Amino acid sequence: MEINNKYSRRRFIRTLTYGTGALVLAPQLASLASCFPAASNKKLGIALVGLGGYSSGQLAPALQETKNCYLAGIVTGTPSKAESWSQKYNIPEKNIYNYSNFDSIAKNPDIDIVYVVLPVSMHKEYTIRAAKAGKHVICEKPMALNAGECREMIAACKQAGKMLSIGYRLHFEPHTLEVMRLAKEKPYGKITSIDTANGFTYRGDPKSWRLKKALSGGGALMDMGIYTIQGSRYATGLEPLFVTATEEKTNRELFKEVDETIHYKLEFPGGIVANGKSSYNENVGFLKIHAEKGDYGLQPAFGYGGIQGETPAGVMDFPQINQQAFQMDDFALCVSNKRMTRVAGEEGLRDMQIIDAIYRSIASGNRERIV
Ligand code: NAD
Repeated sequence: MEINNKYSRRRFIRTLTYGTGALVLAPQLASLASCFPAASNKKLGIALVGLGGYSSGQLAPALQETKNCYLAGIVTGTPSKAESWSQKYNIPEKNIYNYSNFDSIAKNPDIDIVYVVLPVSMHKEYTIRAAKAGKHVICEKPMALNAGECREMIAACKQAGKMLSIGYRLHFEPHTLEVMRLAKEKPYGKITSIDTANGFTYRGDPKSWRLKKALSGGGALMDMGIYTIQGSRYATGLEPLFVTATEEKTNRELFKEVDETIHYKLEFPGGIVANGKSSYNENVGFLKIHAEKGDYGLQPAFGYGGIQGETPAGVMDFPQINQQAFQMDDFALCVSNKRMTRVAGEEGLRDMQIIDAIYRSIASGNRERIV
């Protein structure tokens, strides 16, 4: 049965065939077409640095689906992982590095792109070392410990003449792309406010780097809240000017060094306000946009899959995609075609400037300007 609203899944799937042929889209979806990577002639080699949960659970499997890049190498400090990954993914010995010999990756023509998937405190060092080794870089979110580090990373990549991208997978996700289109075209009138939250109940290792400020830079705000900041920005298409934030802590022992729950209010130009929340104490993830002629949004809004959306026109019926595969394929295409990535280092810097201002507001108790 064809769904009787503007979001027709069947029509979307029929017309948007990833990686093959031409894209012919219904008019309301046409703007999404440019957001999906085409296939390139040469597959670029990616080396993953840090083989933890995200690399093993998401990125390596996604690299089995990519059309423009493949898993060519790994960088790990754990010899047993080197061996098991080498066998599982057929990675030759010459493409396996550790943290000491990493810089010799410069001499390896198999590796075009280095993907930094390490604790946040190591993002700057490995991004800069990769660029100096002559490799293009993808760095995971949050980009670095603070905006100052982000600027150093951007400058180093620029100086090396290499492209830098941040692992913002949602910029390739169809429901999210629709929210970006609505921000641009405003079919429901002026956006007036946003409510957004992202978090999970932390039951992980109490000794994890995520709970150590020196390694993570902060808690749920850096890890989960960054999605709500991104969401507020792409849902409005604007940059916030001021922020006021407060912090809440129920488990002072576990979250001794980092934030557990933060509430923030971002003030955008035109009087738009985004009320956001990040938490390590609640399973939550939504992005609600209030506009003059109706509300719309996504829930769940930020996961690897299962994103759902609704507008006054009905339920969005877009396909679920492998976000990481699309993200990496697009970057490989950007590198091959010398085209700017839509999730460049500057996008990561912008979020860190906002995060820095949120932490400043918590410390000062004041409304802070975002610079
Ligand atoms: P993880 O703890 O599972 O893995 C971290 C890896 O870094 C491990 O392989 C570990 O051995 C290695 N490492 C090297 N030096 C280390 C040190 N001094 N201390 C601790 N670990 C060290 O973490 P993860 O979940 O894979 O996260 C890695 C990065 O990916 C983080 O920046 C995180 O924010 C990001 N991430 C992004 C997403 C996303 O959806 N984009 C999802 C999860 C994680």
